[in-house]
Amino acid sequence: MSRAAVFLDRDGTLVDERGPVAAFSADWLYPYSIPTLARLRAMGFLLFVVSNQAAVARGLVTVDQVDAVHRALTNQLAARGVHLQGIRYCPHHPRGSVPEYRRDCAGRKPGAGLLRELAEQFDVDLRRSWMVGDHATDVLAGRAAGTRTCLVGTGHGSEWAAWAQRRPWLARASTLADLPRLIAQKTSPSPIRWQDMGCKGSNGCQRDGSKRGM
Ligand SMILES: [Mg+2]
Ligand SMILES: [Zn+2]
Repeated sequence: MSRAAVFLDRDGTLVDERGPVAAFSADWLYPYSIPTLARLRAMGFLLFVVSNQAAVARGLVTVDQVDAVHRALTNQLAARGVHLQGIRYCPHHPRGSVPEYRRDCAGRKPGAGLLRELAEQFDVDLRRSWMVGDHATDVLAGRAAGTRTCLVGTGHGSEWAAWAQRRPWLARASTLADLPRLIAQKTSPSPIRWQDMGCKGSNGCQRDGSKRGM
């Protein structure tokens, strides 16, 4: 039988937003992250991390470094009794400086590629699953995949204060720690449109919304 999952954005949601990270450190996780993941596991959810790592395409970190960081993160969680089913990331960016990774990719959020791959591989029921992140692209990736979505206020979350459609989530999930309660309430988000977004972010945050009407 298909299982429900929580797909977690990495930077600014699960761990502190620190730009490109080439080495793991224990204080990278938000203090509430491990207890929250344990709670979500106890609720029966599979846990996945899905992350845009365009820093690879920009030549700021290597895939070997990212993979090592993810192994350390997985081990840190396992040591605290939290089983992470998997971490997937997209190393691509259409304007990257590393030719090998310079391209459009359906795995790059707001694309739903990573979520769909994981759902197929692990027999996940996307309609009963959640995508949580600090950026509208996380919400849009979740919606494209057919999950429920949650926007947190940590990381880049504050940059979305002017996004009118954000309010329902911000009120209920100022951090990841609020997610189990939000899920328990089975609150579902109202429809959003890409055109409503007004990202002021740095970090390669895309503003080409006109091409992606929803
Ligand atoms: Mg993020
Ligand atoms: Zn990719």
